[in-house]
Amino acid sequence: MRNRKFVLNVLIVTAVTANFMAAGSAAAADKLKLLIIDGQNNHNWRATTPVLEGFLSKSGRYEVTVATTPTNRNAPADAWKAFDPDFSKYDVVLSNYNGQMWPDGVKANFEKYVSNGGAVCIVHAANNAFTDWAEFNRMIGLGWRGASFGDRITFSDDGKVVRTPKGQGPGAGHGPQHDFSIIVRQPEHPVMEGLPREWMHAKDELYHGQRGPAADMHILATALAAKGGTNAHEPMVWWIPYGKGKVFTTVMGHSDYSMTCVGFQTVVLRGCEWAATGKISFKVPDAFPGVEKVSVSDPRK
Ligand code: ZN
Repeated sequence: MRNRKFVLNVLIVTAVTANFMAAGSAAAADKLKLLIIDGQNNHNWRATTPVLEGFLSKSGRYEVTVATTPTNRNAPADAWKAFDPDFSKYDVVLSNYNGQMWPDGVKANFEKYVSNGGAVCIVHAANNAFTDWAEFNRMIGLGWRGASFGDRITFSDDGKVVRTPKGQGPGAGHGPQHDFSIIVRQPEHPVMEGLPREWMHAKDELYHGQRGPAADMHILATALAAKGGTNAHEPMVWWIPYGKGKVFTTVMGHSDYSMTCVGFQTVVLRGCEWAATGKISFKVPDAFPGVEKVSVSDPRK
């Protein structure tokens, strides 16, 4: 049965066709080359990749390519030979992937790409992947791991960063899906520039208790995990430098409907651009969510 509350919320949201066009429509040569990786996930990547690809492409700022891994989660080594993306051809790599470990050569190329100045965007369950890949854990800072895996980062009610050592407190989890407020913590950061200090994100999972090395984290936004969660302000959007590159993470984006949130789309559009270029060209869309009102736009329509 469909969630009644969600249906009602959708009925009252601003009716929008979000206009994300970057200032001055980018000519093909100015477009950023963006690679989405999917193919395995404990989430419905076949539904979410088209939403990601849709709003990224429609923005006019990105030329999007999708690289799909073997889709069988037990794919043998032979089947992986066809998956060998040349990351260096892309300005930014967006992971919508949570599955088998990549082959050693692909892992090495990915590390080299980021070290050399590449940009990465990690969306939702992509931070669940690769528990045993130490460099990936450094890149994401926090991932869907148990409490014994590493430290946890939260914000206190008065805005202080709290580091909880590994083994203490909750590990990764989430309460029931719901609309929830995103609180901007670094309003001066280009990705957050001009956004309301607090805005309502459309129905999603609110990840809590994420764990990892949590080094060099720049946390741009949090959400209070009040409903079935930890009652702490959990990191929602952050970035980490890795070599000359930048790794941008948002744990929003559980489902295709979560990704129709204009706030989520703005964060991903700007996050990818900023990680790749250090600048943003996206203005705050008129249809940006309000303090209490979600706003959705489905790029598949
Ligand atoms: Zn999820």
